[in-house]
Amino acid sequence: MTPQFHSPRLVRSAVLAIATAGLLPVPAVLAAATEASVQAHVDAATRAAGKEYPEYLGLCKPASATRPAAGSIDLAGLIARPAPPPGAAFDNLVYVGGAWVSAWALKTSDGLVLIDALNTVDEADRLIVGGLKAQGLDPASIKTILVTHGHGDHYGGADRIREVAAASKPRVVMSEIDWTMTETQLEFANPIWPAPPRRDRTRDLSIQDGDVLRQGDTMVTMVVTPGHTLGTISPVFEVRSGARSWRAVVWGGTSFNFGRDLRRLDAYIAAADRMREIARTEKIEVLLSNHPANDLTVSRLAALRANPSAPNPFVIGTEGVVRTLTVIAECARANRDRFEMMP
Ligand SMILES: [Zn+2]
Repeated sequence: MTPQFHSPRLVRSAVLAIATAGLLPVPAVLAAATEASVQAHVDAATRAAGKEYPEYLGLCKPASATRPAAGSIDLAGLIARPAPPPGAAFDNLVYVGGAWVSAWALKTSDGLVLIDALNTVDEADRLIVGGLKAQGLDPASIKTILVTHGHGDHYGGADRIREVAAASKPRVVMSEIDWTMTETQLEFANPIWPAPPRRDRTRDLSIQDGDVLRQGDTMVTMVVTPGHTLGTISPVFEVRSGARSWRAVVWGGTSFNFGRDLRRLDAYIAAADRMREIARTEKIEVLLSNHPANDLTVSRLAALRANPSAPNPFVIGTEGVVRTLTVIAECARANRDRFEMMP
């Protein structure tokens, strides 16, 4: 197929007009939070999860009321966990991430879109560059580095990939909000993470909600889903295997690690509710994550390797996506109510 464009570019989207028009930021009247309301949300999440979709139920546990201090997680230990082998989840989507954080490479007729860049230069070299080569892909063909949100586990390797793929002059893509956050007041800093990518205002792209990245034959619709960071991007795109294709989304930020911030949780809830509506209207059947534990990346890749002709385990259907986003939204509501009840 002939690429329509010679370099990745953004166009304003009409694709999400319906879903965007229906967006209500915050309900006008909120019932008072009580132990019972917390439990009702946990119950709703548990029902939505059923037996099939328990992966996100951990979000219903009480979130910390304070932002985790730098150094409170064992970052080095998480990074040191042995990485799974790289592998194709779909014909056009390859996993090149680690055991803790994901990196996905989306193939287009005009090079690769890398979705997230892992923690460090070493991970970029070993997992992204090494993984792409092992999958028969050329790391120098990366033309877009999409950073789902401005935390170091997703941008740490970005500048390294920019060097590796210098011949393709890759653009780093972040939301305007998260570019600003990383440039002015980084939410999380850790000496293990390199500095955030420095924005090249002549090349790098700043995303607003609904923008569409066009690269070759591929369109990636950028849905801004504020919460985990205020400018988290959840990209929507098509995945293909053989003659079949499906709509997929990467939920761009998951945990409630910002402390007792009710407005932020309200934004998260609105974003999860909205994405659920987009999943319905756009018939999204694949819900991916940027942390492999959330979407069972490792076991699903292993299942695909063991039995390539079986139904693709990443395809959970629109009902599965809607139910999982319901788990996420209801757990957010449970934690919102817990925070509201605090003196
Ligand atoms: Zn994060």
